[in-house]
Amino acid sequence: MADKVTQGPLEMFGTDALVDEESLAIRDTVRRFVRDRIRPEIAEWYETGTMPVRELAKELGSLGVMGMHLTGYDCAGTSATAYGLACLELEAGDSGLRSLVSVQGSLAMFAIWKHGSEEQKQEWLPRMAAGEAVGCFGLTEPDFGSNPAGMRTAARRDGDDWVLSGNKMWITNGSVADVAVVWARTDDGIRGFVVPTDTPGFSAPEIKKKMSLRASVTSELVLDDVRLPAAAMLPGAKGLSGPLSCLNEARFGIVFGALGAARDCLERTIAYAGERDIFDKPLSAYQITQTKLADMTLELGKGMLLALHLGRLKDAGELRPEQVSLGKLNNVRESIAIARECRTLLGAAGITLEYPVMRHANNLESVLTYEGTSEVHQLVIGQALTGEAAFR
Ligand code: FAD
Repeated sequence: MADKVTQGPLEMFGTDALVDEESLAIRDTVRRFVRDRIRPEIAEWYETGTMPVRELAKELGSLGVMGMHLTGYDCAGTSATAYGLACLELEAGDSGLRSLVSVQGSLAMFAIWKHGSEEQKQEWLPRMAAGEAVGCFGLTEPDFGSNPAGMRTAARRDGDDWVLSGNKMWITNGSVADVAVVWARTDDGIRGFVVPTDTPGFSAPEIKKKMSLRASVTSELVLDDVRLPAAAMLPGAKGLSGPLSCLNEARFGIVFGALGAARDCLERTIAYAGERDIFDKPLSAYQITQTKLADMTLELGKGMLLALHLGRLKDAGELRPEQVSLGKLNNVRESIAIARECRTLLGAAGITLEYPVMRHANNLESVLTYEGTSEVHQLVIGQALTGEAAFR
């Protein structure tokens, strides 16, 4: 009997036709890296709650994805769309892997690239692009997540020096970083500081017992009178718009990235349903199954069209923050729904690490929360629609 002709869920939408050759080639390179380097190891890393971040950072640096959408300073200077597609492939491996690249490129490197002095850029960006130096981004505090304006971490002047004190919480890569971009209040409003992590008074204990993003290092940052020279301050970032400009970059990567996790769930579930016999015929041959698969494919494809549209706007320099909110809210929300629906189709097998779906579903809980919760993005969209800020 001839093989049945099937199409992948995203192939059905023909979205490759919307993307240039160079971006597709970058995507394929990242896809191969994930297949060969990440897939064989990821379940083990997730189960043990470990990830060889520094080793992977160098490999990702060689691949050219660290800060890939930035220009100069040994960064690859790709389009935003190519960066998005790379995020999608990385997150098809694991959200922790994409988080590593997002935090490095879109948060820590972007902050220095956009707001830093020439000396700060020269010192850090080439090493970070190569993955030889790992960065983290400290904005959230134990009592201030969605409302970073309330932050208590303070930087006070002492002669020419700055002295930082306070605590940051939930900081990706904190314990393994060489450099932390730390946001603190000063007499002059919120400012960013480039903090080498070997500075006396800086420590970053790892947060354990996570049920989500287990293949990712998450840490507290403790700043106990960390003394820095005047040149440690980012000269170009004044006020909350500094960190928010960085979050906007990382959120854009998530718009694409989350779809990678959903695509992986769906592809693996379609394969499983074809092999699993239930009441004497394949699970894939039941109408209930096909209804679920069709609905999930539709949401995945719609999310992809939205992501590519936002990518084009970003490449044209026209993407607005509320549009990024549209993409982050929709694509993470739909991706987590897809992961959970796939889990039902896998039955008991779906709760194990033999299959990626529950790992992706659990990871997406963090993705739903970080870089602005769904509710915060609803409020951003609501404000754009009504002109009323309903945050407080
Ligand atoms: P809260 O702000 O306490 O929110 C609790 C609930 O209140 C949520 O449902 C929220 O939507 C809702 N809420 C908030 N405001 C409103 C409102 N106005 N109206 C109605 N409801 C509201 N931060 C960093 O700075 N750097 C990092 O590298 C980083 N990495 C992270 C990695 C992981 C794995 C996780 C889980 C988090 C990370 N974060 C990081 C922190 C993340 O950005 C925050 O968790 C997020 O901003 C939410 O803050 P919170 O957890 O304090 O929740």
